Amino acid sequence: MKFHLSTAILSVALTIPSVISAQQASTPTTHGIVVANIDPSVKPGDDFYDYANGAWIKRTEIPPDRALVDVFSQLDDLSNQRTADLIKEIASSPATAGSPTRKVADLFNSYMDEVGIETRGLTPLRPHLDAIAAIKNKHELAHYLGSTLRADVDALNNTNFHTPNLFGLWVAPGFSDFEHYTPYLMQGGIELPDREYYLDASEQMQKLRTAYQAHIAAMLKLAGFSDTDARAKRIFDLEHDIAQTHRTLADNEDIHRANNPWTVAEFSTNAPGLDWTEYFRGAGLSDVKNYIVWQPEAFEGEAALVESTPLETWKDWLAFHVTEDYADVLPKALDKERFSFFGKQLAGTEQQRPRWQRGVFIVNTYLGDVVGQIYAQRFFSPEAKAQAQAMVANLIAAFHKRIEALDWMNPSTKAEAQAKLSSLYVGIGYPETWHDYSNYEVKADDAFGNGWRGDLSEYHRRVAQLGKSVDRKEWSMTPQTVNAVNLPLQNALNFPAAILQPPFYDPLAPAAVNYGAIGSVIGHEISHTFDTEGSTFDAKGRLRNWWTDADLKHFEASTARLAAQYDTYKPFPDLAINGKQTLAENIADVAGISAAYDGYHASLAGKAAPSRDGFTPDQQFFIAFGQNWATKERDEALRTQVMTDPHSPGEYRAATVRNIDAWYAAFDVKPGEKLYLAPDQRVRIW
Ligand SMILES: [Zn+2]
Repeated sequence: MKFHLSTAILSVALTIPSVISAQQASTPTTHGIVVANIDPSVKPGDDFYDYANGAWIKRTEIPPDRALVDVFSQLDDLSNQRTADLIKEIASSPATAGSPTRKVADLFNSYMDEVGIETRGLTPLRPHLDAIAAIKNKHELAHYLGSTLRADVDALNNTNFHTPNLFGLWVAPGFSDFEHYTPYLMQGGIELPDREYYLDASEQMQKLRTAYQAHIAAMLKLAGFSDTDARAKRIFDLEHDIAQTHRTLADNEDIHRANNPWTVAEFSTNAPGLDWTEYFRGAGLSDVKNYIVWQPEAFEGEAALVESTPLETWKDWLAFHVTEDYADVLPKALDKERFSFFGKQLAGTEQQRPRWQRGVFIVNTYLGDVVGQIYAQRFFSPEAKAQAQAMVANLIAAFHKRIEALDWMNPSTKAEAQAKLSSLYVGIGYPETWHDYSNYEVKADDAFGNGWRGDLSEYHRRVAQLGKSVDRKEWSMTPQTVNAVNLPLQNALNFPAAILQPPFYDPLAPAAVNYGAIGSVIGHEISHTFDTEGSTFDAKGRLRNWWTDADLKHFEASTARLAAQYDTYKPFPDLAINGKQTLAENIADVAGISAAYDGYHASLAGKAAPSRDGFTPDQQFFIAFGQNWATKERDEALRTQVMTDPHSPGEYRAATVRNIDAWYAAFDVKPGEKLYLAPDQRVRIW
C-alpha cells in the first residue's frame, strides 16, 4: 500500500504530477511548522485541518492545469523540476548509442518532437489497427487479447487495480510460495477508473457516461473509422457489461478472497468462453503452469463475454483502446480529445500540462531508475540517509513497546508481530540495485514506438522474474517519487529520497516537527505490517493467519468503530467517505501518529524541548501532522478520489488527531467542540 494515491488518479486524467506553480506557499521558508498557514480564528477542537491550514487554503488557487494542489504535488513539482534538469543535462552531454543515458535523452526528445509526431500522423498506429482488422475469428481474437497483457496492475504495493486491457499481470512473491515470483492475474477491460462509473445511478455519473460515449465516437472518428456513433455505443455497452463482472474496490482489498490458485488447465473449466491456450500463447506465457486469479468471477464473466459478444464489437473495442491509450504520442487532435474527456470532464482540469512536464513523467515511467540513480546521488546525502535511518529505528522501537504493552493481544500473536517488526526491511532514499533496461529499444524519432516498447519492455522484465528467487530488497518506487510504500509480500518498506525533504523532513527543523510530519508517514507505513492487510502476512511475507480468533475479534471490533467514524464524513451532500474502502489507510494513520508521538518523546530522552513561535513542542508535533494534509482539490477530482481511492481525502486524514489523547491535552480540546470524542469513543488499535 502506498501512502498517498494522487498520482494514480492524476495519471488516469493525464494530468500528471508536474512542475512549477505559483502556489509554492506551503513550502516552508523557516525550518519548522508554517505559522503563516494557520488560521488562528478556527478552534483546533472544531476543525483541526482548517486550523492548521486555513490561511493557506484561503490564499491558494488551483492552477488551471491541475486537479489539485497539496503538499505532495508541491514536492512533485520540485522533484520533477530537478528530474527535468537532469534530463536536459543528460541530453546535452554526448552518450554512446544504446547507453542508458542516451535512451533517456532519446525518449524525452522523441516525446517532445511534436512536429515529427504530427508529420507521422496515424502511421505508427496503423499496423496495430491493421492487425486488429485482420482478426478473423474468436481463436485469433484470444491470441490478440493475450498479446495486450501488460504488467500494469499492482494489488498490494502501488495498489493499482485498473487496466484498460482485458486482464492485467502483477508479478510478486506468491501467497503460498513466498520465495518465488508468481503471476497474479487481475480483472480489466474498462477505460473509466472503476466499475461504479458504469453502474452508479447518480446524475453525475450518468452525465459522465453520456460524455464518455461521445468521446469514444470522437476518438474513433479521429482514428479514421466510419459509423462512429454506433460503434461507440457497442463499445460502451461492452465496457458496461465488463464492469458488471468486476469486483468493487473494497472487495479487491480483501486478500483472502483474492487467493485463488488456478492451474493453466483450470482456466477453461472455471472461465469458459475464451480460448485460454491461445490467450496465454499470445501473452508469451505458454510455459507458465500456475497463476493466482484475484477476481475469479470477473474472469468467468469476461471470458463469457468474449464468447457472447460479436467479434466486430471486440475488434472495435481493441481499436478504440489502443488509440486511447497511446493518444499522447499520436497527433495533437487525439491527445486533445483524450484530455477534453479525461482531463476536463472527469478531473475538472481546465488546461493540459505543458508537454515537457509530461515528458518527464514518460521518462520516469519507462526509464525511472536511470534518472533515479543520478537523482539519489545528487539530492540525498549520506548524512540525510543516516538521520532518517535513526528516526526509523526510533519508530520501530516505539512499535515494539506498543505491541508489548497491548493488553488484549495473545502472547503468541505478540511474538509473531515482534518477529515481523524485527525482520522488516526498511529502504531509505534509494534501492541497493537498479533496474536493467537493456531490453528496451529507444529510437530518437519514434515517440509512439518508444511508448509501446516501453510498456512491453516492463512486461518482459516482469515475466522474466517468474519462478526466480524473490529479492526482498527490490524497490517498487523510484527515488524521485514523492511517496512511501509498504510491500507486504516482501515485509519491506520504501521511503524514496524525494519524500525525505521539507516540509516532511528537514534536518534543521525541531524534532517535534519532523516526527509529526515524516514520523507519522513512517509510522503509517510500519503499521501496515500489522493492519487488516499486514496481519494476513507473516514475517517472511507468507499468506498465513498469525492471529488467534480472540485477537482478530478485538481487532475487527476496534476497526469497525473506525470505519463508522469515517462513514460520518461527507465531502458532498450526496457522497460520504466509505469507511470500509478507506479502513486500512485510516488505521495506518491512527497507528502512525501514535507511534510517531511515542518515538518523538523517546528521542527527547527526558530533556524538555523549547516552544517556538508560541507553540509548545506537542502543538508543533500535531500541527506538523495536520499540515501534511493541506489540499485544494476540484470537486470532480475529489469525487473520483472518494469513489476510487483507499485513502481518505486530506481533510479527514488530518482529523485522525481526535483519536489521540495527547492532542486533547495539547490544544485543551473540550466536550462540545466538533471533533471532541469522549475517551471511550477514541479508537486505539495499536
Ligand atoms: Zn498506507
